[in-house]
Amino acid sequence: MRIAKRLIIFCCIALLLMGCKKDDEIDVQAVIEQEKEQEEKERREEERKHKEEEERKEAQRAQEEEEQKEAQRAQEEEERRMLEEQQAAMNARGGLTVVLDPGHSAVVAPGTEPLGPGSSEYKAADASGTSGVASGVREYELTLNISVQLKAELEGRGYTVLMTRESNDVPVSCIERANVANNAGAAAYVRIHANGSENQGAAGAMTICTTPGSPYASELYSASRNLSDCILNKYCEMTGCRSEGVWETDTMSGNNWSRVPVTIVEMGYMTNPQEDLLMQTPEYQSKIVQGIADGIDLFFGFAS
Ligand SMILES: [Zn+2]
Repeated sequence: MRIAKRLIIFCCIALLLMGCKKDDEIDVQAVIEQEKEQEEKERREEERKHKEEEERKEAQRAQEEEEQKEAQRAQEEEERRMLEEQQAAMNARGGLTVVLDPGHSAVVAPGTEPLGPGSSEYKAADASGTSGVASGVREYELTLNISVQLKAELEGRGYTVLMTRESNDVPVSCIERANVANNAGAAAYVRIHANGSENQGAAGAMTICTTPGSPYASELYSASRNLSDCILNKYCEMTGCRSEGVWETDTMSGNNWSRVPVTIVEMGYMTNPQEDLLMQTPEYQSKIVQGIADGIDLFFGFAS
């Protein structure tokens, strides 16, 4: 470009020199000076543009950096808030006692007990329970196995957990079981059982609570029904088990003697070969435990 310009200027000067009289001769030096000035001007302009571009890029980099920092600050704030919420939920759960009752025992409590407080009707103090048609496992073994895992899970979430029995060799009557929950001032009493039926095709899970007209625990009905709904829904959601719904009955001594919200969880039928074997697998047991724990969380209003 510059060469071309110079060439043009040179030609112009030559023409001028040829076309002009000697006394009108153009001051060549002045033209060259002018040209130099022009070049210097262009160079400075280019420099200015370059500097501007650099400044613009720098400003953009600074802005991006600031945005990144802001996003990081927001993320850290969100993480801190979540941790605080988790800690608050853990603390809140710590103030709640959940009593777990692993159904039945290898040593069945002898004798009979009133069906409920003030009842003249008596029932066996405990029963031997059912057993797995395919697995051969006894119900009391399965209920203790699940309860031990559930206790650990609930404690991990922050709850205070007590059990009505921790071995298979102790006889515990229905009233004694309920009194563990009553004496602890439990916020929830969750009784773990598995079902049995003469019909091997019967399958699915249910929860059991007292009726609204219970002569023993009518004031606990709405809480016990809510506990039953929460656990059954979360249980079936987690395990994929068929729901048989909530059974309301006043024929369960252990429920009638409870002074705190109570439910029986019938996890599935041990008399159904498929369900029996499924309930013996560690993977399904883990879902059972998660489902019941999620139901308990839901009952207390915690997001699990
Ligand atoms: Zn049972």
